[in-house]
Amino acid sequence: MSKTILVCNDDGFFSYGIQQLAMVASEFGKVIVIAPDRQQSAVGHAITIQTPLRANKVKMPNGMDAIAVTGTPADCIKLAHDKLLDGEKPDLVLSGINHGSNAGINMLYSGTVSAATEAAILGYPAIAVSCTSFDEKPDMSGCEETTRRLIKLVLEEGLPPYMILNANIPKGPFTDIKWTKMARSRYIEEYDGRVDPYNRPYYWMTGKFEILEEGEDLDVHVINKGFASVTPVQYDLTDYSYLKKRLGI
Ligand code: MN
Repeated sequence: MSKTILVCNDDGFFSYGIQQLAMVASEFGKVIVIAPDRQQSAVGHAITIQTPLRANKVKMPNGMDAIAVTGTPADCIKLAHDKLLDGEKPDLVLSGINHGSNAGINMLYSGTVSAATEAAILGYPAIAVSCTSFDEKPDMSGCEETTRRLIKLVLEEGLPPYMILNANIPKGPFTDIKWTKMARSRYIEEYDGRVDPYNRPYYWMTGKFEILEEGEDLDVHVINKGFASVTPVQYDLTDYSYLKKRLGI
């Protein structure tokens, strides 16, 4: 049965990854691409409330139609749901294929993941997909095959409410899918301090990725071994173990 799939990302409608994702999605039915009109990486779940949003019909470099929104990834999904889809209800929302890893703590900063999360908030099954390479046009064949398998899984089985799948895949051919947990991690030595031509200091974010735990089931570990990592992610931020302690249950 032909499905309708909404595709978004955070790198902008012109990025290589979103074109690859739209092509994979088109194997399953109708594809609607609604994505930011510019680079929006690491904006997290930001939404636009002080300025109007515009949505313009554009062509992606591969010739496919898209709508470019002057906002964040979460804006794109919210605006699509309320106005741009004209009442059409997608069977699935895909976000990506992001250029760069959204494993570990990156998940929290990620606009790619937030587009999927916003879709889940609005009641759509959603998958975020990232290629861990920052190359301009990496070999995304493994990302594409992983996505194909996850689309089949979700269209057949659905997903529970209040959660998404977050897939992170190395560049190169498909190997295998491993189900993982988000690695506790953080960035250290984050800013490079420099001096501008007027002798004023400025700071440029850089930093080292630090993993704070060990385990075979961590997303970052599985990716480093060359596999596709898929983490089921929920957006309920409650810490239930501490809550239970306070409630005495
Ligand atoms: Mn990005």
